[in-house]
Amino acid sequence: MTSEQLRQYLTFYQDLGVKNIYRRAPGVPAAAVEKPLPVAAPGAISAAALIELPSLAPAGDTLAKISEDIGDCKRCRLCEQRNKIVFGSGNEQARLVFVGEGPGADEDAQGLPFVGRAGQLLTQMIEGTASKEGIPIKRADVYICNVVKCRPPENRTPQPDEMEICGQFLFRQLMTLRPKAICALGSTAAKALLATKDGVMRLRGNWHKWHDIPVMVTYHPSYLLRPYNQNAKREAWDDLKKVLHFVYD
Ligand code: URA
Repeated sequence: MTSEQLRQYLTFYQDLGVKNIYRRAPGVPAAAVEKPLPVAAPGAISAAALIELPSLAPAGDTLAKISEDIGDCKRCRLCEQRNKIVFGSGNEQARLVFVGEGPGADEDAQGLPFVGRAGQLLTQMIEGTASKEGIPIKRADVYICNVVKCRPPENRTPQPDEMEICGQFLFRQLMTLRPKAICALGSTAAKALLATKDGVMRLRGNWHKWHDIPVMVTYHPSYLLRPYNQNAKREAWDDLKKVLHFVYD
């Protein structure tokens, strides 16, 4: 691993909120973990101190390889109740990627992201806004995926360890797709991409960055489906307008 790869690796985990990493000497079992090293100071850690680290975004990575690496994933508890892994769908050359939180019941049944009520609203938002703004794109032109690939029971918010484990695949998807912009739908996606504790209300409407790629945060479509959130709907439409013009003008 080169020092640049090491730096990217540490930055990635730091972005996910990981405060410590553990080094293990060759041949020492996982249980015999040595003292933690701070992720906060990547430059201070020698490459020799880290061993057995998988490459985060292997050279020549593809969505097909990432999906193959996920396989019949049993890396976290979300595998226990899932029916289908929801990898992501859309145009693999997309200039715009939407990132949601995690699959719901419909997505879990079909293996596709955003196909339930929230998904129908997302489709309307994308296609309605694009058409009003004279931008000739459909949902099929963008790519859509989630922070976690398996449905959390009762649609609960994914837990930090689940986000961290699945985050490696989201990282590879985004690195492979390299879109012109990312739209983070809701606070889980914002947290995963921006490593922030700020909520959507504070983050939305402005540009942020994920590894040099501009990120717009907006409300999750499920939130917009609640009848008392009509103001938020207007704001979400504004956010989307901004994203679409930035990407397709
Ligand atoms: N909500 C999400 O965050 N993702 C989906 O795929 C569906 C609903």
